[in-house]
Amino acid sequence: MGRRAGGARILGRTLPTTAMGLRVLVLSSAPLVVGCASMPLERFEYERAAMGTRFRIVLYARAREAADSAAEAAFARVAALEGELSDYDERSELSRLSGASDSGPTGPIPVSADLFAVLECSQRVAAASGGAFDVTVGPYVRLWRRARRQGEPPGPERLRQVAPSVGFRRLALDRGRRTVRLLAPAMRLDLGGIAKGFALDEALAVLARRGIERALVLGGGDIAVGRPPPGRAGWRIAIVGLEAPEEEIELACAAVATSGDLERYLDFGGKRYSHIVDPRTGRALDERRLVSVIAPGGMLADALATAVSVLGAPEGLALVERFDGARVRVAILAPDGLRVFRSPAFPPALSSLPRPPSAPPVAPEPLR
Ligand code: AMP
Ligand code: MG
Repeated sequence: MGRRAGGARILGRTLPTTAMGLRVLVLSSAPLVVGCASMPLERFEYERAAMGTRFRIVLYARAREAADSAAEAAFARVAALEGELSDYDERSELSRLSGASDSGPTGPIPVSADLFAVLECSQRVAAASGGAFDVTVGPYVRLWRRARRQGEPPGPERLRQVAPSVGFRRLALDRGRRTVRLLAPAMRLDLGGIAKGFALDEALAVLARRGIERALVLGGGDIAVGRPPPGRAGWRIAIVGLEAPEEEIELACAAVATSGDLERYLDFGGKRYSHIVDPRTGRALDERRLVSVIAPGGMLADALATAVSVLGAPEGLALVERFDGARVRVAILAPDGLRVFRSPAFPPALSSLPRPPSAPPVAPEPLR
């Protein structure tokens, strides 16, 4: 198990490094102000631990009080979603749903609108990716989590034993009734590849409902942005990681999610096993890949980034093409060198920056 810096960052002045090794930067050291002199738009920033990582909000508002209470409401929404969607918390709605399959396949189980929305998007990406993205992957993910603690990959026999509990076709959704059926015993749903993106979207929505539209929400390596900072065409974000040069892009009203093996992995027998598992085989990825997906929303960007990590390139590029407004950049570090693939519509880099020095070592967070 180890950690490394990577993901994405917002450009400008550096703020303290997060435990994820991301650097969030501001656009100028002086507060940007526009509008009438008495009520300028001012920049506010907030940070909170959630979903096993750091969440950050950067927003523009006219008054500190409104900014503080909007950020508080957005963080509260993220915390509530964590309570529903976490597979670490045995009391979460998700864990209770999975547990219902302990004694065998279930009948229709009513679920919350949030859980249903995430499962519905999951199933869309699962079907489109031929099961490369699959939230029923939980039994495999658990074996690989244990493997990271024990320092040794699970044997093929262990993987075979849990295989009958994995497969997105064993998850049946009924949108009209908002119910879910688990069609195999001992299923374990894991929303680790998609829930963070949904939380980013929901946090932005909370801010927008309070009239704050110029906002950015970051969770781990994923970022969702609303309207740009005043006087700018977009939020400037640097895509970092692996050996590729850092690329600066500009985004507004969109999201960018990054998946890779930068934070959680197992080194064994000369291979680095990722926390991302191929649900079709039960094997953790052992090729070094860093995938950044831009999409209209965080939930789709997050799911697609995980899916493309499994598919690699060029298959992953073809998957992303099927989703309106989605674009991807894939960096693959193979023994014969680095290869970078990108969708034709992936924004051209505003600039290519030299790689920053690695982030300083930080206290490890609990394994997620
Ligand atoms: P991300 O960092 O968004 O790529 O999500 C990785 C997390 O998603 C892992 O830690 C697992 O909890 C879960 N996961 C791993 N492999 C898959 C997969 N193939 N499909 C869906 N979720 C996955
Ligand atoms: Mg993901």
